[in-house]
Amino acid sequence: MIDLHSHTHFSDGDLAPSDLIARASKLGLEYLAITDHDSVSAFQSLSRNNAKRTETSPLLTISGLDGGLISGLEVSCQWEGLEIHVLGLFVDVNNPVLTDLLTKQQERRRQRAIAIDLKLQRNGITGLSAYLGTLPCDAISRSHMADFLVEQGHSKNKQHAFTKWLGRKGKAYVVADWCEFGEAITAIHEAGGIASMAHPDRYTLSRPRFRRMVADFCDAGGDAMEVSYSNLNPGSLGHLADLCEQHGLWATAGSDFHSPSHHWMDLGKIRMMPAACRDRAIWHHPVWQQHIGKLPALVSTAVEPSGA
Ligand SMILES: [Zn+2]
Ligand SMILES: [Zn+2]
Repeated sequence: MIDLHSHTHFSDGDLAPSDLIARASKLGLEYLAITDHDSVSAFQSLSRNNAKRTETSPLLTISGLDGGLISGLEVSCQWEGLEIHVLGLFVDVNNPVLTDLLTKQQERRRQRAIAIDLKLQRNGITGLSAYLGTLPCDAISRSHMADFLVEQGHSKNKQHAFTKWLGRKGKAYVVADWCEFGEAITAIHEAGGIASMAHPDRYTLSRPRFRRMVADFCDAGGDAMEVSYSNLNPGSLGHLADLCEQHGLWATAGSDFHSPSHHWMDLGKIRMMPAACRDRAIWHHPVWQQHIGKLPALVSTAVEPSGA
């Protein structure tokens, strides 16, 4: 089993990197990629005590995973005023072009948090910046701010926090200022990685606009698309496989795991790669072959469940 999309407490996930690895190990994962929002700190922290790893290798041999840990990240991009997520897999986490981009994106997140804090203060809610300062993350998100609003009793749950305060129509909403596709994809390529569009059916776009967005992603140099992920509408699976075929994109798969309490998005909880794009699965990509040199065990042992 593989999972190429997961989060730790360095972005908006709940678990520390070592706890995420322990969970992946318990669930029997062979390969895992940690893809925190605009951060590669989890991979760096797990690498630090690992004498076997060479500085630039995107694969970490780690106790608990039969295959290993693949370096990754999830970059927030803007496209026609929408936030679209681009995964980078197999990146050299110390590449200077990539680290420059991450520094910029993390600063954008801090500035946005300051602006939201000011708006909340104007509405009588204080303490957001101090709360954010206590968190282990280096990529602050609105999810953290929603936690703050719930913990302080200003909202009954996170959904309510977004509706009343943080969402587009919320009283403390601040527009995000993310990089464009081109900048994210260039940085991922400079770092030797593969750029994959994350969870394509989660963006609220009409069919024609969605097609235009995918075309722009390809024009900017995008390599792949997530075609298998948790909560994916089953009707979308074939459609995404067709898009991969049409655009010559590789296909990636990942749960987008954030928290053990979200059981429907647990590690490895993803559908089989659809037959239509199995030849385009990421493990056939030259970068996978360069660093791993073999197919994951699931490819030789898996049987597709009927109706999946
Ligand atoms: Zn995402
Ligand atoms: Zn994600």
